[in-house]
Parts: sequence; structure tokens; C-alpha cells
Amino acid sequence: MNATATSVWNNCLKFIQDNIQPQAFKTWFEPIKPVKLSDNVLSIEVPSKFFYEWLEEHYVKLLKVALTKELGESAKLLYNIKLENTYGNKEGSVEKIPSTSKGTMAPQEMDVPIKSKNPELRNPFVIPGIRNIKIESQLNAGYNFENFLEGDSNRLARSAGLAVANKPGGTSFNPLLIFGGVGLGKTHLAHAIGVEIKDKYPERTVLYISAEKFTQQYIESVKKNTRNDFIHFYQLIDVLIIDDVQFFSSKTGTQDVFFHIFNHLHQNGKQVILTSDKAPVDMQDIEQRLLSRFKWGLSAELQSPDYETRFSILKNRLYRDGVEMPDEIVEHVAKNIKTNIRELEGAIISLIAQSTLNKQEVTLELAQQTVDKFVKNTKREVSIDYIQKVVSDYFEMDVATLQSKTRKRHIVQARQLAMFFAKKFTKASLASIGSQIGKRDHATVLHACKTVDNLAETDKQFRKYIEDLTKKLS
Ligand code: ADP
Ligand code: MG
Repeated sequence: MNATATSVWNNCLKFIQDNIQPQAFKTWFEPIKPVKLSDNVLSIEVPSKFFYEWLEEHYVKLLKVALTKELGESAKLLYNIKLENTYGNKEGSVEKIPSTSKGTMAPQEMDVPIKSKNPELRNPFVIPGIRNIKIESQLNAGYNFENFLEGDSNRLARSAGLAVANKPGGTSFNPLLIFGGVGLGKTHLAHAIGVEIKDKYPERTVLYISAEKFTQQYIESVKKNTRNDFIHFYQLIDVLIIDDVQFFSSKTGTQDVFFHIFNHLHQNGKQVILTSDKAPVDMQDIEQRLLSRFKWGLSAELQSPDYETRFSILKNRLYRDGVEMPDEIVEHVAKNIKTNIRELEGAIISLIAQSTLNKQEVTLELAQQTVDKFVKNTKREVSIDYIQKVVSDYFEMDVATLQSKTRKRHIVQARQLAMFFAKKFTKASLASIGSQIGKRDHATVLHACKTVDNLAETDKQFRKYIEDLTKKLS
């Protein structure tokens, strides 16, 4: 007797039909086409990735039983996913999600030999594997529209964001580029759009990623020879949010790959949302063809918030934290911290901490002190990581080399300089500096600082290093 893909699948269907609700059967099994049978592997074609995920989530156990009955213990199932081009298809199939299918099957462990071999679904976020195909949005639900307060400084960007969230890919704001200085709400707004889309269109694949992480993944993919997988993965996304695209500057490989992904998504009516700390015209070392794409949609600026907005952001924050504070104090903070919202929040959090943890009354005096500290201290904040990065960049080596055990002179010197600056610019202890810079002990750090001091006096070239690096770090 010769089994074919069709005959095997038809037998499976009979069994499945007997075990689930007719509506669920109609929705999830009728659209499947058996395509191939070789050895004990049955390939089936499903209409979308979402469909595949749904089957894996809800019917994997049933499929396994059905298939094992037909093909024996070593049976395997392969999914071929028909790639969707338009939203029309996708929404059509998704609307039929049967709520009844839940509960008919207890959730099962996934030790079954059912496997997707579709290479297009390798997900750079997780180790490839059966469960991991679901794309996590990486969204932060705490950054939503509700707590993104409106003001003159953000009105355009905020409403463009809302428009995009209502009709992802369906407005002329594609891409939507949100730009503005540090701490003005780019990341918050970018998440808010994603969160809102997920809420309105749960079936769409939304992905938030920083440009930095995207770049790292890309570099990894080149190393591992999986560049195509990387591209395909991103091409499957419905709403792609990339934060801080200025990070792409000078990174031609990443720009190139992003250009292709962008074109694909755009052509297929998918939404792209970007943030940047500069307007497109001011972006440096970004290829022209990419810049021109950035301008296709809408560039909306987040400006520094005016006093009223600052005041209401503070009030809102206090309200959400359930803390009461006299208006006089809120006004003081709002008046004096003008640069950006992150600092504004930093100051108020510090005040909240002092009032709740120390059970201390927040006086205007305390508020003044806190604000003073903020206005002064937020100018520069160097971390040991940052110091190591700056020093290694300066000597054109990577941080791993700087930290390595090698005794090569120029590397030792770079390491000693990093230790010296860590001592100078941070409050970290010698022991802590040592452990962060290549796991050395405190004596080594102390020795490094002395050596640098000595060399600074005797060696002109070395003095120049110190001067250059001091400038870079201040
Ligand atoms: P950026 O990405 O532009 O550097 P963020 O999005 O990280 O800035 O915002 C800094 C902080 O300010 C975050 O905690 C964010 O929640 C808050 N914030 C920014 N804009 C608003 C706003 N309009 N309303 C309320 N909070 C805001
Ligand atoms: Mg940000």
C-alpha cells in the first residue's frame, strides 16, 4: 500500500475532526494543504506564520497523536508557510479565530518531534527551536499613550503616533520618524505606538528594537553566515520600530541590510517607525538613499517641554505613584529643570524617595537642594564601561583586548590609563575598578594609577594621551 501526503493527511484529518469542535476544524485544518511525504516526514502548507503559531500553540498534541497513528513513532511534521503579501489575507484568516478551541486540549510539553524547518523563521532573538518562533514584541507596556502627556512640544509627534497606531501601514506617515534631543520622550512614544497597535491588532507582529541591538544581531549573522535568515526574519514583521537610528551612522553594512529590509516592508504596506536624536538633514554618515527613505513619511520633532507640560508631567507622575506634594514644590522643580523630561523625573523620584523612605516632609528647601544637585550633576556621568570604551577606541583596540591578560606594552598602558581615569572620574573603589577592568585586584589598580602619574611627569607622548583622553571624557 502506497501512502501519499494526501492519503496520510486525510486520515489525520478524520481523526482530528472527531476530536475537536467543527468550527475549529473548519478554521484551522481545512485550509491546510498536504504537500509532501518523504520517509516519515509529512510537509503541510499553512497560510501564514500566525496560523502556524496557532497550530503549535493549540493543536500540537492532537497533531502528534494523529500523525503517529499514521506514520509511527518517528513521524515528523514540517510546516511550509505561505508568505503573505497583503494585510487583506491575513486579517481574513485571523478574524476566524475560534475562542472555543481553548480548553479542549490541555497545554502540553513540547517534546514532540514536530519541527518547523522553514529557514525563513529563524529568530535572532532566541536560540532556534520549536517554541521560539513566536516573535516577542520587546515592548514595554509601561510606556503607553495614556501616560505620555500631551503638550505643545510633542503634539505633532504624539498625534502622528496615534494615527499610525490606528492604521499601521495605512497612513502616509510611513516611515514615521520621531526625532529630538535626549530625554524628550522618543523611546516612550515609540513604545506607546507599538503597545497601542498590539492592543488594537493583536495578530500583527510588532517588534521594538534599538538600532544598537539590530546592529549587533546583524554582525552576529554575518559571522555565523546567517545573513539571509536575519533579513528574512525582519521581513516578516508587520510593524518594525527601530530606536536611535543615528546609531547606524558610519555602519555601512548595517545600513545596507536595513535598506533592503525597509524597502521590503514599505512595499508590502508594513509600518516602519524610527527614532533619532537628529533630524534627517542633520544626520551624518548615513547613506543618501537611506536618508531619502527616512524622509518619505513624516519626520516629527519632540521639543523641550514648556513649563505647563513639565508641571503636568510631574503632577501625573506623583498621582500615579500615589504621592502628595505641595504645588509650590512641584512648581519649583518644573521651573528649574528645563532640559529634558528624564531629568525632571529624576528629580521628582529623588524627592519622592526622600519623602517616603525617610518619612521626611518635603520642604521647599529640600526641593531646592535636590534640584541644585540635579542641575549640576546631570551634566556628565561617566561609567567605567564608558571609560574603557573611550580608551580602547582611542588606541584602536577593542575592550576585550584592553582587558586581556597580555603583557604587551601598549595594551598594558591602555589598561592602566583606563584604571587611572576610572579612579579619577568615578566614585568606584579600587577593588571595584579592578574587577570591572579585566578582573584585576585593587593593588594592580593602585599600581596603575601610580605608573600613570609617573609617566605623566616623564613622558611627553604619554602626557598627550592623558590630555586627549581627559578631553574626551569630560
Ligand atoms: P528619549 O528616548 O527621547 O531619550 P525617553 O522616551 O526615554 O526619552 O523619555 C525619558 C523619560 O521621560 C521617560 O521616563 C519617559 O516616560 C518620560 N517622558 C517623556 N515624554 C513624556 C511625556 N510626554 N509624558 C510623560 N512622560 C514622558
Ligand atoms: Mg531613547
